[in-house]
Amino acid sequence: MNILFASGKGGAGKTTVTAGLSAFLPRPFVLADADVEAPDLGLYLPHHFTSHESVELEVPKAITDRCDLCGECVAICQFNAIKKLAVPHHAVL
Ligand code: SF4
Repeated sequence: MNILFASGKGGAGKTTVTAGLSAFLPRPFVLADADVEAPDLGLYLPHHFTSHESVELEVPKAITDRCDLCGECVAICQFNAIKKLAVPHHAVL
């Protein structure tokens, strides 16, 4: 049996529900917290985690002197992770 809790929104309760549900899961089981920004399941259940593996995430860096704010990257980002804000051209990003 595989159970997955997923949401693009933080604070939805994924970690809390997972930690609570784990008390009722038949042993043995595997818990994996794949939250790249705040993997907090280990804080709820420190005795359940026997190994940790660090992962790295590349973070894009804006090249402000080459960006003309056309917004094309907003349209093509499959994760909807880029927002175009009303930033004046002279603003330092
Ligand atoms: S695609 Fe995005 S990063 Fe590239 S010039 Fe346009 S707004 Fe700037």
